[in-house]
Amino acid sequence: VDAGDARLAGEGEVPEPPSAAETHAKAHASLQEVRRSLPVYKFRDAFLDAVDKHKVVVLTGETGSGKTTQLPQYLHEHGYTRGGKMIGCTQPRRVAAMSVAARVAEEAGVTLGREVGYSIRFEDCTSDATVIKYMTDGMLLREFMSSPDLGAYSVMIIDEAHERTLGTDILFGLIKDIARYRDDIRIVIASATLDAEKFSDYFDMAPIFAIPGRRYPVDLYYTKAPEADYLDAAVMTVLQIHKSQPAGDVLVFLTGQAEIETAQAALEERGRSAGSTMGELIIAPIYANLPAELQANIFAPTPKGARKVVLATNIAETSVTIDGIRYVVDPGFCKQKSFNPRSGMESLVVTPVSQAGARQRAGRAGRVAPGKCFRLFTAWAFENELEPNNIPEIQRTNLGNVVLMLKSLGIDDLIHFDFMDPPPVEAITKALEQLYALGALNDRGQLTKLGRRMAEFPLDPQLAKAIIAGAEYGVVSELVTIAAMLSSGNAVFFRPKDKILHADAAHKAFHKDGGDHLMLLAVYNEWAAAGYSKNWCKESFVQYRTMCRARDIRDQLLHLLDRVEIPLNEVETGDEVAIRKAVTAGFFFNTARLSRTGGSYKTVKHQLGVSIHPQSCLNEKLPRWVVYFELVFTSREFMRQVIEIDPGWLTQVAPHYYKPSDVAEGERAARKMPNAKARARAQA
Ligand code: ADP
Ligand code: MG
Repeated sequence: VDAGDARLAGEGEVPEPPSAAETHAKAHASLQEVRRSLPVYKFRDAFLDAVDKHKVVVLTGETGSGKTTQLPQYLHEHGYTRGGKMIGCTQPRRVAAMSVAARVAEEAGVTLGREVGYSIRFEDCTSDATVIKYMTDGMLLREFMSSPDLGAYSVMIIDEAHERTLGTDILFGLIKDIARYRDDIRIVIASATLDAEKFSDYFDMAPIFAIPGRRYPVDLYYTKAPEADYLDAAVMTVLQIHKSQPAGDVLVFLTGQAEIETAQAALEERGRSAGSTMGELIIAPIYANLPAELQANIFAPTPKGARKVVLATNIAETSVTIDGIRYVVDPGFCKQKSFNPRSGMESLVVTPVSQAGARQRAGRAGRVAPGKCFRLFTAWAFENELEPNNIPEIQRTNLGNVVLMLKSLGIDDLIHFDFMDPPPVEAITKALEQLYALGALNDRGQLTKLGRRMAEFPLDPQLAKAIIAGAEYGVVSELVTIAAMLSSGNAVFFRPKDKILHADAAHKAFHKDGGDHLMLLAVYNEWAAAGYSKNWCKESFVQYRTMCRARDIRDQLLHLLDRVEIPLNEVETGDEVAIRKAVTAGFFFNTARLSRTGGSYKTVKHQLGVSIHPQSCLNEKLPRWVVYFELVFTSREFMRQVIEIDPGWLTQVAPHYYKPSDVAEGERAARKMPNAKARARAQA
């Protein structure tokens, strides 16, 4: 069967018992009605006409107008998938790619993963029959490596362009190039905000197509004074709304899984203690690593008399639309990567949103009827403290990953790459330096064999390097497991409130003297030895889902090793020194040394103060020298996932980066101050 003729309409293709077919047909008909009621529907023909005529079209429309779910279907219906070509649509977030693909498959009456599919890192849910493919922008970048002209696609939609993620910004440059030489491709740049001129200018004055918004007024409420604890304030506000406001669902913006879980627990507890006097509160969380089957909860219609409270990360700002929201609670924060190009240090930081972000959030309350937005910050703060717009990610992130990727695409002159907003030159230089220190580039800036191999892994260069170093030290299998555990995204352990002591004792049993990476390895191996059992996880207070995800990732990494022809070690020796050395070979930038006073650490190269995360198994031991996986900033900079190292390894694994004087023990090293200011301080 010609995939291009794949029928998305699905009626009557599979013989079914009449009753089931009838209900099916009914559901289908009502979904088609919903499709026709979306604002974008009126512009269907004009849109298709614009795409027929222009290579690049910029399209703007309010969140919820139907851009993401409808445009690919229109293009398919219009014939753009004839001959087996695909329509691609990128999303900055994995959850959005999955949920939107599921929705479109449902609307089209097909099985997800067949005609309509999605592709996100470590998960490919597509088939030969796929004609509409949603994917993260990062996955499309990876596709460039195997297919630089995107020959499989007739149309590529770069969606949520206003988010300006790193992936999207790099795609802009690559796609612009393709659009110039491929006459048969069409590009649609879709965005939820109105600043489309910038996109149009960049894409050689591409025509702009604006779908008028349908939006009701939203009343804004501010707090009189700054909130000391926004999480607590958010919970109180939700309860207040529930008590005093007419029917309508609530959307709360929080920064991550941990906050969402805390808020959920608090709301469930208070909801219970409030008894039966109030209607039911249905709590529905949504965040990046929420298992797919639970994501659907946020879209489930709210029963009469009840009220749904969606606890969401930034994903609900524009990426997914939830109908029925009348109230928005906005503490005004989101979690962002922040990068210091001077030190090369990257950290996850809870950051105030921009004014544009806060407006988007408020807008979510006015989709179905007039709404209210409760901002948990002052009107003064909105005017004076928030940035007007989001800073594009490319200007605040480590570029190691993309530089490596662009190099492997043969793009050597990064300074003159056609960026919409170029990153700071120091950030490019820093990335080049780091890749050189990792051995991925030679002294002329060309990709080495090692670099080529590293680029194959959908991982940060440091993690890729650690795996490859693992091969050198005879512990590659162990490193693959560790990398999979580190990449699984979610917490490994859980601590139920009523069993904290049991849980802590169970976790302590996994602790390893050498550090957290070894502990993660032990957890995985014990789980594997227990036959990947769910029960084992329960008894050990380990998150079963995290483990399953780690297993999936591990399988894929093993596959990749095969492709880059790195043989596995047949037996796992579990040689702890070798493992720690291999980790150091990738993460030597992240070295810190215990200060002689107190339990605090200083990074070796830049003398920045950092601490071991309270949940680390080295939290009490406090070794003199450590290498960490990542920094998270809460009350201060915490190193998460830490191992103990021998400082002598640093000059072995990174001779271009560490001089013997950097890693000398005792007085001499302590006296060597990093910069003039510190020297002056020492002399004073
Ligand atoms: P846009 O991309 O313009 O923001 P979408 O195409 O995402 O708009 O959404 C259009 C409509 O589809 C929304 O009103 C929403 O109700 C519905 N929708 C989108 N995703 C889902 C889903 N996973 N489940 C149920 N409804 C959905
Ligand atoms: Mg969308």
